[in-house]
Amino acid sequence: MRKVYVVGLGPGGSRYLTEEARAALAAADVLCGYTVYVDLVAPLYPEKETYTTPMTREIDRCRWALETARSGRTVAMVCSGDAGVYGMASPVLELSQDYPEVEVEVVAGITAALSGGAVLGAPLGHDFCVISLSDLLTPWEVIEKRLECAAAGDFAVCLYNPCSKKRKDHLRRACEILLRTRSGDTVCGWVKNIGREEQCCKVLTLSELPEEELDMFTTVFIGSSQTKDLADRMVTPRGYKKA
Ligand code: SAH
Repeated sequence: MRKVYVVGLGPGGSRYLTEEARAALAAADVLCGYTVYVDLVAPLYPEKETYTTPMTREIDRCRWALETARSGRTVAMVCSGDAGVYGMASPVLELSQDYPEVEVEVVAGITAALSGGAVLGAPLGHDFCVISLSDLLTPWEVIEKRLECAAAGDFAVCLYNPCSKKRKDHLRRACEILLRTRSGDTVCGWVKNIGREEQCCKVLTLSELPEEELDMFTTVFIGSSQTKDLADRMVTPRGYKKA
């Protein structure tokens, strides 16, 4: 079988793996991915070969996976959360056009918007959008435009990659854009290290959010005009009419 599984592991340890993800990992001859994620699942399959690369060598990793599958071994490429959400499923599928004999199967995982949303309550109970604040692969002007459109549509917004060492002020700039149209009292929340031992979270207002010390292991939620703080649970009602 010439096959690459692209497997989303969910946010944390093995308890977030779906049955389908477990089956894909079990079927693989070799597990590959970013070191941190391979290390999470490798102990479950001690007999399996592993291949790890640093975060920045993603395209090399995809090519390696496709070459290895072409040579006859089944590969599982692992990523955090869902493989299709800012993950490896797109580059693997794009590159796989050069490997017509290799089958690619994407296995869904629990993305941070959903696992983090559950920690806070129900922040995404109505229409929402997901925006990454990383400008590594997207020009900042495009990110700003999407934030403006999300604000205009009164969507609840889930922000991935809110900040990193190099980009400290992206969250503050995003908040400034949202504050042009959205009230400073808008209910917001963040969750750090979802599904891991150090998991922590906070519900706060949009005017407080820019002052928070967040890192790249944080997912941020900005409520719509309807979102409520119910005893520190962030809840976006199912509709605009009274239940
Ligand atoms: N494929 C991943 C997203 C990768 S982008 C997924 O579907 O979840 C990386 C961003 O995802 C991080 O900057 C953070 O915003 C979010 N994220 C991923 N895992 C997280 C976790 N365990 N806790 C908090 N945020 C997380």
